Amino acid sequence: MSLSREAIVEGLQRIVGPEAVVTDEKVLVESSVDNFRKLQNIFDVHTLPVPAAVVLPADAAQVAGILTWANENGVNVIPKTGGTATEGGLESAVPDSVIIDGSAMNKVISVDPYNMQATAQCGVPLQALEDRVREHGLTTGHSPQSKPVAHMGGLVATRSIGQFSTLYGGIEDMVVGLEAVFPNGETCRIKNVPRRAAGPDIRHIVVGNEGALCFITEVTVKLFPYFPENNVFLGWTLKDMKTGFEVLRDVMVNGYKPSVARVYDPGDAGVHFSHFAEPDDCVLLFMAEGAATVAKATADGIQAIVDQHPECTQVPSKYIETWFNDLCWGPDKILAEDERIRQTRNVNRTTEISADWSTINDIYQTAKARILDEIPDITMMGGHSSHSYINGTNMYFNYFFNVVGVGPEAETEKYYLPIISIICEETLKRGGSIVHHHGMGKARAPWVKDEYGSSYYMLETLKKAFDPKGIMNKGTIFPI
Ligand SMILES: Cc1cc2nc3c(=O)[nH]c(=O)nc-3n(C[C@H](O)[C@H](O)[C@H](O)COP(=O)(O)OP(=O)(O)OC[C@H]3O[C@@H](n4cnc5c(N)ncnc54)[C@H](O)[C@@H]3O)c2cc1C
Repeated sequence: MSLSREAIVEGLQRIVGPEAVVTDEKVLVESSVDNFRKLQNIFDVHTLPVPAAVVLPADAAQVAGILTWANENGVNVIPKTGGTATEGGLESAVPDSVIIDGSAMNKVISVDPYNMQATAQCGVPLQALEDRVREHGLTTGHSPQSKPVAHMGGLVATRSIGQFSTLYGGIEDMVVGLEAVFPNGETCRIKNVPRRAAGPDIRHIVVGNEGALCFITEVTVKLFPYFPENNVFLGWTLKDMKTGFEVLRDVMVNGYKPSVARVYDPGDAGVHFSHFAEPDDCVLLFMAEGAATVAKATADGIQAIVDQHPECTQVPSKYIETWFNDLCWGPDKILAEDERIRQTRNVNRTTEISADWSTINDIYQTAKARILDEIPDITMMGGHSSHSYINGTNMYFNYFFNVVGVGPEAETEKYYLPIISIICEETLKRGGSIVHHHGMGKARAPWVKDEYGSSYYMLETLKKAFDPKGIMNKGTIFPI
C-alpha cells in the first residue's frame, strides 16, 4: 500500500529533521516541472502531479537514509541539484514523488593544484568551483551556458558539455572519480586515478544516469592551466552550411584542437551575430587557447585551412570575442527570457543531436525543411554545430514559435513534441544519436529503444539491477 502524503513527510522528517523538508505548496507545484514545460511555471498553470515534498539532505549518509526509506516504501524520488534541466528530467511523473534536492551539499572539498584535480559536493554551482580554482590560475575547462546556475551533480548526471569541449571534452572526459548512493542505500566511491584498466569503467554507469539509477553526492574533476591572455578568436561569414561542416571537418581531421569550433546557419546567426552578419549569412568561428605557442599554432593552422575556402569571408576577431564574452546564462537572463515569453507568447526552444560527417548536413536540411513545412506558427527555425569530433559533430536546432490557439499547458503537445519527433526521426533514420548533451529526460524517453537498438538490453539490465523497485525518477530515460 502506498504511503499518504502525511506519512511521506513524517518519514522524511525522521531522517533529516523537519527543517530540511519543504512542504510549501507553491514550491511543490513549481517543482512539478522543469524547463521542458516551463510555460506552466511562467503562466502559473499546472497539470502534473504535485510532489509530496522537497527534501534537502546534508550529506551522503542522509541521502542513503532517504533512498533506503523510499525503496522500502515504494516512493518515487527525483534527484535534483541546479534545477536547469531542459528535458523533463525533474518532472514529477507520478503523484506524491519526493524531490531530493542536493543543493545544500555545496562544499568544495579540495582543490589539488599539484595533482590537477578538485573535489566538490553535488550542490556546488560550477561557477563557484571555477572561481575557486581560478585562484590557483587553473580552470575546470567546463563551460556550459548554464555554468552560473547548474550544479556539479546535475552536470555529471546529464553528461553535460561546455563551450570549450573541442579541447577539454565533455564532462565524461573530466570526471576522474565520484561518489554515488544507490536505492538500497549502498554508497560507492570510485577512486581518483589517471587511468584504469581493471575491468569496465564503472564511472560511466553513473555519468549520464539522470537520477534514474543513483544519486551523485560528490565529484572529482580534472583541472587545467588557465591562460586567457593567449586566446585567439577567428570568424568568417559564408553562404551555406555544407561548406561550414566541411571546414569544421577539415580542422578536426587535421588534428587541430581549438577550444571552440562552430558554424551557425543564417537563422541562428541572425539571433547571435546580427551586428555584422547579413540575413543570408552563415557564421563560422573558432577560438584557440592554451599555452602561447599552442594557441598560436592552432590559430595559424585553422587560418590556413579556411584560407583554402574562398567562399569564406573573414570578419574582425573582436566581433567573435564580444559575442563570446556574453554567452553564459545567469538568473537575470533566465528571468528576462521568461518575461519576454509572458509578454509575447513567442517561445524559444532547442534540440541537440549528433551524427557523423557524412550525414549531419542531410539531417540538418531535412529536419529543418520538415519543421517549416509541418509545424505551424514558426517564427525562426535555425541552428548551429558547436561540438565537433574526429568522426562527426552535433547539430543544435534553435527555433522560435508563437503559441496560438492553445493554453500554456498544451504548448508542449502542439508544438514542442511534434518538432522533437521530426528531429528524432530524421536523426535515427541516418544512424545519429537523438541526444547530444541535454539528456533523455522524459521528453525523449519514448525513443530510447530506437536510440539504443540491440544495446538496449544492457541499459535495461542496469536499471533492473540497480533500481529493481523502480523508485528512481520514474519516466526518465525509461518511459513509463
Ligand atoms: C539557459 C540554459 C543553458 C544551458 N546550457 C547548457 C550547455 O551549454 N550545455 C549543457 O550540457 N547543458 C546546458 N543546459 C542544460 C542544463 O544546464 C544541464 O543539463 C545541466 O547539466 C543540469 O544541471 P543541474 O544541476 O541544473 O541539474 P538538474 O536540473 O537539477 O537535474 C538534471 C537531471 O539530472 C538529475 N540529477 C540532478 N542532480 C543529480 C544528482 N545529484 N544525482 C543524480 N541525478 C541528478 C535530475 O534528476 C535530472 O534528470 C542549459 C540549460 C539552461 C536552462
